[in-house]
Amino acid sequence: MTKLIALALHGGAGPIRNPDQSREIAHMTQLLDCGERDLLAGAAAIDVVQQVIGELEDAGLYIAGRGSSPNRNNEFELDAAIMDGSRRRAGSVCALQGIKSPIAVARAVMEETPHVMLAGEGASSFARQQGFEQIDDPRTYFTPISPAGANTDELSHGTVGCVALDISGNLAAGTSTGGVLNKIPGRVGDSPLIGAGTWADKRVAVSCTGQGEYFIRAAVAVDVSARMTYGGFSVDAASAGALADMQRQGGDGGLIAVDARGRVAMPFLSDGMRRAVRHGDGRKQIAVFHE
Ligand code: ASP
Repeated sequence: MTKLIALALHGGAGPIRNPDQSREIAHMTQLLDCGERDLLAGAAAIDVVQQVIGELEDAGLYIAGRGSSPNRNNEFELDAAIMDGSRRRAGSVCALQGIKSPIAVARAVMEETPHVMLAGEGASSFARQQGFEQIDDPRTYFTPISPAGANTDELSHGTVGCVALDISGNLAAGTSTGGVLNKIPGRVGDSPLIGAGTWADKRVAVSCTGQGEYFIRAAVAVDVSARMTYGGFSVDAASAGALADMQRQGGDGGLIAVDARGRVAMPFLSDGMRRAVRHGDGRKQIAVFHE
Protein backbone atom coordinates (compact mmCIF):
# COMPACT_ATOMS: atom_id res chain seq x y z
CA MET A 1 0.00 0.00 0.00
CA THR A 2 1.37 3.45 -0.84
CA LYS A 3 1.95 5.68 2.11
CA LEU A 4 -0.05 8.89 2.01
CA ILE A 5 2.00 11.88 3.10
CA ALA A 6 2.06 15.54 2.10
CA LEU A 7 4.31 18.47 2.93
CA ALA A 8 4.40 22.16 2.12
CA LEU A 9 6.62 24.98 3.29
CA HIS A 10 6.82 28.70 2.65
CA GLY A 11 9.48 31.35 3.01
CA GLY A 12 7.19 34.36 3.06
CA ALA A 13 4.83 36.16 0.70
CA GLY A 14 5.00 39.82 -0.25
CA PRO A 15 6.92 42.17 -2.51
CA ILE A 16 10.00 40.17 -3.60
CA ARG A 17 12.44 42.67 -5.07
CA ASN A 18 15.32 40.37 -5.97
CA PRO A 19 14.39 38.36 -9.09
CA ASP A 20 17.21 35.89 -8.39
CA GLN A 21 15.74 33.49 -5.86
CA SER A 22 18.04 30.59 -6.76
CA ARG A 23 19.52 30.21 -3.27
CA GLU A 24 16.08 30.12 -1.67
CA ILE A 25 14.85 27.62 -4.28
CA ALA A 26 17.84 25.35 -3.72
CA HIS A 27 17.36 25.55 0.03
CA MET A 28 13.62 24.86 -0.10
CA THR A 29 14.20 21.92 -2.47
CA GLN A 30 16.64 20.36 -0.05
CA LEU A 31 14.25 20.84 2.89
CA LEU A 32 11.34 19.41 0.92
CA ASP A 33 13.34 16.30 0.00
CA CYS A 34 14.50 15.74 3.60
CA GLY A 35 11.01 16.28 4.98
CA GLU A 36 9.50 13.91 2.42
CA ARG A 37 12.07 11.24 3.25
CA ASP A 38 11.39 11.56 6.99
CA LEU A 39 7.61 11.45 6.56
CA LEU A 40 7.84 8.37 4.33
CA ALA A 41 10.04 6.76 6.98
CA GLY A 42 7.27 7.31 9.51
CA ALA A 43 8.25 10.59 11.20
CA ALA A 44 5.43 12.47 12.94
CA ALA A 45 4.06 15.55 11.15
CA ILE A 46 4.72 17.74 14.18
CA ASP A 47 8.41 16.71 14.26
CA VAL A 48 8.89 17.36 10.56
CA VAL A 49 7.20 20.75 10.83
CA GLN A 50 9.49 21.76 13.69
CA GLN A 51 12.57 20.44 11.90
CA VAL A 52 11.82 22.22 8.61
CA ILE A 53 11.02 25.51 10.33
CA GLY A 54 14.17 25.24 12.47
CA GLU A 55 16.23 24.97 9.27
CA LEU A 56 14.38 27.90 7.67
CA GLU A 57 15.03 30.02 10.80
CA ASP A 58 18.70 29.15 10.76
CA ALA A 59 19.29 29.83 7.06
CA GLY A 60 19.30 33.63 7.21
CA LEU A 61 17.55 33.69 3.83
CA TYR A 62 14.08 34.63 5.09
CA ILE A 63 12.72 37.25 7.50
CA ALA A 64 12.56 34.79 10.37
CA GLY A 65 15.11 33.49 12.84
CA ARG A 66 18.58 34.63 11.79
CA GLY A 67 17.27 36.68 8.84
CA SER A 68 14.91 38.77 10.99
CA SER A 69 15.05 42.56 11.02
CA PRO A 70 15.18 44.71 14.15
CA ASN A 71 12.29 46.75 15.52
CA ARG A 72 12.45 50.52 15.97
CA ASN A 73 14.55 50.12 19.12
CA ASN A 74 17.06 48.02 17.20
CA GLU A 75 15.97 44.90 19.10
CA PHE A 76 15.05 41.58 17.53
CA GLU A 77 11.64 40.35 18.74
CA LEU A 78 10.54 37.08 17.16
CA ASP A 79 7.20 35.21 17.06
CA ALA A 80 6.44 31.53 16.40
CA ALA A 81 3.69 28.94 16.84
CA ILE A 82 3.23 25.23 16.32
CA MET A 83 0.05 23.15 16.38
CA ASP A 84 -0.63 19.43 16.49
CA GLY A 85 -3.90 18.80 14.64
CA SER A 86 -4.65 15.32 15.91
CA ARG A 87 -4.73 16.35 19.55
CA ARG A 88 -5.48 20.06 18.97
CA ARG A 89 -2.52 21.05 21.12
CA ALA A 90 -0.55 24.22 20.46
CA GLY A 91 2.40 26.24 21.71
CA SER A 92 3.55 29.72 20.84
CA VAL A 93 5.92 32.51 21.74
CA CYS A 94 5.81 36.18 20.90
CA ALA A 95 8.26 39.08 21.17
CA LEU A 96 10.91 36.53 22.11
CA GLN A 97 14.47 37.88 22.42
CA GLY A 98 17.88 36.28 22.72
CA ILE A 99 17.03 32.70 21.64
CA LYS A 100 18.06 31.09 18.34
CA SER A 101 15.05 28.92 17.51
CA PRO A 102 11.64 30.40 18.36
CA ILE A 103 9.85 27.35 16.88
CA ALA A 104 11.69 25.02 19.28
CA VAL A 105 10.60 27.18 22.21
CA ALA A 106 7.00 27.18 20.92
CA ARG A 107 7.12 23.36 20.82
CA ALA A 108 8.42 23.32 24.42
CA VAL A 109 5.57 25.60 25.52
CA MET A 110 3.20 22.99 24.04
CA GLU A 111 4.96 19.99 25.54
CA GLU A 112 6.23 21.27 28.87
CA THR A 113 3.71 23.80 30.14
CA PRO A 114 -0.06 23.93 30.75
CA HIS A 115 -0.14 27.09 28.59
CA VAL A 116 -0.42 27.89 24.90
CA MET A 117 1.43 31.19 24.62
CA LEU A 118 4.32 32.88 26.41
CA ALA A 119 5.30 36.49 25.71
CA GLY A 120 8.37 38.72 25.97
CA GLU A 121 10.71 38.28 28.91
CA GLY A 122 8.58 35.43 30.29
CA ALA A 123 9.11 33.51 27.05
CA SER A 124 12.86 34.22 27.04
CA SER A 125 13.31 33.18 30.64
CA PHE A 126 11.34 29.95 30.02
CA ALA A 127 13.58 29.24 27.03
CA ARG A 128 16.75 29.82 29.07
CA GLN A 129 15.47 27.52 31.84
CA GLN A 130 14.77 24.85 29.22
CA GLY A 131 18.35 25.15 28.00
CA PHE A 132 17.65 26.48 24.50
CA GLU A 133 20.59 27.92 22.64
CA GLN A 134 21.01 31.63 23.32
CA ILE A 135 22.25 34.38 21.03
CA ASP A 136 25.51 35.79 22.37
CA ASP A 137 25.54 38.98 20.35
CA PRO A 138 22.48 39.96 18.28
CA ARG A 139 24.63 42.35 16.19
CA THR A 140 26.69 39.50 14.79
CA TYR A 141 24.09 36.72 14.90
CA PHE A 142 21.34 38.35 12.86
CA THR A 143 21.80 38.94 9.14
CA PRO A 144 18.76 41.07 8.31
CA ILE A 145 17.56 40.77 4.74
CA SER A 146 16.34 44.37 4.88
CA PRO A 147 17.70 46.96 7.30
CA ALA A 148 15.38 48.70 9.76
CA GLY A 149 14.03 51.89 8.33
CA ALA A 150 13.66 50.44 4.83
CA ASN A 151 10.19 50.69 3.33
CA THR A 152 8.88 52.57 6.32
CA ASP A 153 5.74 53.58 4.48
CA GLU A 154 4.59 50.02 4.07
CA LEU A 155 4.42 47.01 6.31
CA SER A 156 7.07 44.95 4.56
CA HIS A 157 7.43 41.53 6.00
CA GLY A 158 8.54 37.90 5.68
CA THR A 159 7.88 34.67 7.47
CA VAL A 160 8.50 30.94 7.25
CA GLY A 161 6.03 28.14 7.76
CA CYS A 162 5.38 24.46 7.21
CA VAL A 163 2.37 22.10 7.15
CA ALA A 164 2.51 18.31 6.99
CA LEU A 165 0.42 15.15 6.86
CA ASP A 166 2.12 12.02 8.21
CA ILE A 167 1.48 8.35 7.41
CA SER A 168 -0.66 7.98 10.54
CA GLY A 169 -3.00 10.65 9.16
CA ASN A 170 -1.95 13.37 11.62
CA LEU A 171 -1.70 16.98 10.49
CA ALA A 172 0.54 19.71 11.93
CA ALA A 173 1.32 23.35 11.19
CA GLY A 174 3.93 25.86 12.29
CA THR A 175 4.97 29.44 11.54
CA SER A 176 7.97 31.55 12.60
CA THR A 177 8.70 35.19 11.86
CA GLY A 178 10.69 38.31 12.54
CA GLY A 179 7.45 40.18 11.87
CA VAL A 180 7.08 43.33 9.83
CA LEU A 181 9.97 45.69 9.18
CA ASN A 182 10.35 48.74 11.36
CA LYS A 183 7.70 47.50 13.79
CA ILE A 184 6.96 49.24 17.07
CA PRO A 185 8.55 47.37 20.01
CA GLY A 186 6.04 44.90 21.42
CA ARG A 187 4.15 44.52 18.14
CA VAL A 188 2.92 40.96 17.65
CA GLY A 189 1.60 39.70 14.32
CA ASP A 190 -0.64 36.83 13.26
CA SER A 191 2.03 34.11 13.11
CA PRO A 192 2.04 33.14 16.82
CA LEU A 193 -1.73 33.63 17.20
CA ILE A 194 -3.52 30.31 17.00
CA GLY A 195 -6.35 30.69 14.49
CA ALA A 196 -4.94 33.80 12.83
CA GLY A 197 -1.59 32.79 11.29
CA THR A 198 -1.35 29.16 12.38
CA TRP A 199 -3.92 26.37 12.77
CA ALA A 200 -4.20 22.58 12.65
CA ASP A 201 -7.01 20.16 13.43
CA LYS A 202 -8.03 16.74 12.08
CA ARG A 203 -9.22 18.25 8.81
CA VAL A 204 -6.58 20.77 7.78
CA ALA A 205 -3.26 22.39 8.77
CA VAL A 206 -2.58 26.03 7.79
CA SER A 207 0.35 28.47 7.95
CA CYS A 208 -0.12 32.06 6.76
CA THR A 209 2.21 34.81 5.62
CA GLY A 210 1.46 38.44 4.86
CA GLN A 211 0.52 41.63 6.64
CA GLY A 212 -0.30 40.16 10.01
CA GLU A 213 -2.71 42.87 11.13
CA TYR A 214 -5.11 41.89 8.35
CA PHE A 215 -4.70 38.16 8.96
CA ILE A 216 -5.60 38.73 12.62
CA ARG A 217 -8.71 40.71 11.70
CA ALA A 218 -9.83 37.95 9.32
CA ALA A 219 -8.77 34.98 11.53
CA VAL A 220 -7.55 33.47 8.27
CA ALA A 221 -6.04 30.17 9.45
CA VAL A 222 -9.08 28.94 11.37
CA ASP A 223 -11.38 30.38 8.70
CA VAL A 224 -9.94 27.86 6.23
CA SER A 225 -10.98 25.04 8.57
CA ALA A 226 -14.39 26.58 9.26
CA ARG A 227 -15.16 26.86 5.54
CA MET A 228 -14.27 23.19 5.09
CA THR A 229 -16.16 22.04 8.19
CA TYR A 230 -19.36 24.08 7.96
CA GLY A 231 -19.41 24.92 4.27
CA GLY A 232 -18.18 21.61 2.90
CA PHE A 233 -15.56 23.39 0.77
CA SER A 234 -12.39 21.75 -0.54
CA VAL A 235 -9.07 22.90 0.86
CA ASP A 236 -8.52 24.88 -2.35
CA ALA A 237 -11.84 26.72 -2.22
CA ALA A 238 -11.65 27.26 1.56
CA SER A 239 -8.12 28.70 1.31
CA ALA A 240 -9.02 31.01 -1.56
CA GLY A 241 -12.18 32.17 0.25
CA ALA A 242 -10.39 32.89 3.53
CA LEU A 243 -7.65 34.80 1.70
CA ALA A 244 -10.17 36.82 -0.28
CA ASP A 245 -11.91 37.85 2.95
CA MET A 246 -8.55 39.02 4.32
CA GLN A 247 -7.92 40.95 1.09
CA ARG A 248 -11.27 42.72 1.49
CA GLN A 249 -9.97 44.11 4.80
CA GLY A 250 -7.10 45.65 2.79
CA GLY A 251 -4.19 43.23 3.24
CA ASP A 252 -2.14 40.93 1.07
CA GLY A 253 -0.21 37.72 1.53
CA GLY A 254 -0.71 34.00 1.13
CA LEU A 255 -0.98 30.71 2.92
CA ILE A 256 -0.20 27.02 2.68
CA ALA A 257 -2.75 24.40 3.71
CA VAL A 258 -2.86 20.60 3.61
CA ASP A 259 -5.91 18.45 4.25
CA ALA A 260 -6.23 14.93 5.65
CA ARG A 261 -6.33 13.46 2.13
CA GLY A 262 -2.99 15.01 1.17
CA ARG A 263 -4.37 17.79 -0.97
CA VAL A 264 -2.39 21.01 -0.71
CA ALA A 265 -3.46 24.60 -1.45
CA MET A 266 -0.92 27.44 -1.70
CA PRO A 267 -2.79 30.58 -2.79
CA PHE A 268 -1.17 34.02 -2.54
CA LEU A 269 -2.18 37.52 -3.57
CA SER A 270 1.21 39.23 -3.47
CA ASP A 271 4.03 39.48 -6.06
CA GLY A 272 5.39 36.19 -4.92
CA MET A 273 5.48 33.56 -2.20
CA ARG A 274 8.52 31.37 -1.71
CA ARG A 275 6.98 27.93 -1.55
CA ALA A 276 7.64 24.24 -1.96
CA VAL A 277 5.14 21.41 -1.97
CA ARG A 278 5.07 17.64 -2.09
CA HIS A 279 1.45 16.74 -2.82
CA GLY A 280 -0.18 13.57 -1.53
CA ASP A 281 -0.01 12.07 -5.02
CA GLY A 282 3.76 12.55 -5.17
CA ARG A 283 3.93 15.66 -7.41
CA LYS A 284 6.41 18.32 -6.33
CA GLN A 285 6.64 22.03 -7.05
CA ILE A 286 9.10 24.67 -5.89
CA ALA A 287 8.40 28.24 -6.96
CA VAL A 288 8.51 31.90 -5.94
CA PHE A 289 6.49 33.94 -8.40
CA HIS A 290 3.15 33.31 -10.13
CA GLU A 291 3.48 30.52 -12.70
N1 ASP B 1 2.62 37.69 9.02
C1 ASP B 1 3.87 38.16 9.54
C2 ASP B 1 3.61 39.22 10.56
O1 ASP B 1 2.75 40.04 10.35
C3 ASP B 1 4.77 38.69 8.49
C4 ASP B 1 4.82 37.90 7.22
O2 ASP B 1 4.23 36.87 7.09
O3 ASP B 1 5.51 38.31 6.30
O4 ASP B 1 4.30 39.27 11.54
